[in-house]
Amino acid sequence: MKKIIITIDGWSSCGKSTLAKQLAKKLGYLYVDSGAMYRAVTLFFLRNHIDWTDKKEVKKALNSIKLKFVFNPKSKVSEIFLNDENVEYLIRDMVVAEKVSDVAAIKGVRQFAVAQQRKMGTKKGIIMDGRDIGTVVFPKAELKIFMTADNAVRTERRFKELYEKNPNITIEEVKNNLEMRDYIDSHRKVSPLKKAKDAIELNNTNLTENQQFRKAMEWVQQKIS
Ligand code: C5P
Repeated sequence: MKKIIITIDGWSSCGKSTLAKQLAKKLGYLYVDSGAMYRAVTLFFLRNHIDWTDKKEVKKALNSIKLKFVFNPKSKVSEIFLNDENVEYLIRDMVVAEKVSDVAAIKGVRQFAVAQQRKMGTKKGIIMDGRDIGTVVFPKAELKIFMTADNAVRTERRFKELYEKNPNITIEEVKNNLEMRDYIDSHRKVSPLKKAKDAIELNNTNLTENQQFRKAMEWVQQKIS
């Protein structure tokens, strides 16, 4: 069967990674969480007090960042390493979420991440989720999915996820963070979040994980058979 590139873009917390992981498992494809790369860069900038409004400082900082994904046989997904440290869990912290969209809007940071993302797709058989994967990273991808869901549903899902790790978090905080990130991500100059012309829209507000998986698998079958 032919190997393809599948891109999943969309708003924050609408279940992109859940669907991407299900598809990757079923198809034996590589799953890449591109957001993890922007989060890891943000973590590095925060830890090292990088002034990201200064182009030179950003360039220098990026030169000392090495990112890689390593498959964890226990969790069955690839986890991100920042200069040989596993930061998969640290990057999900609210401190990083507060700043990641500002960092991801920087041209130099996007060039740094996109170059690595494109390399990962050279052999196809890959599913990548993010904001600009179908528009910028793999504009020729065979299957592009653009995911949406109602704001309230997305907030609730994200809140549940974060509350497990941090019971002090409030639903207001989560709601504000999602709205802020969506606004910055869709209004930035470089590679803004938007639906690719040839992407299929998937609104999963009223779909179960299984229903959305079945829908996406139908689209995959049409492309690979
Ligand atoms: O996907 P996730 O919510 O973890 O992404 C975190 C942030 O990284 C997004 O809010 C966005 O600012 C940025 N991002 C991006 N382009 C991508 C993936 C993520 O700008 N392809």
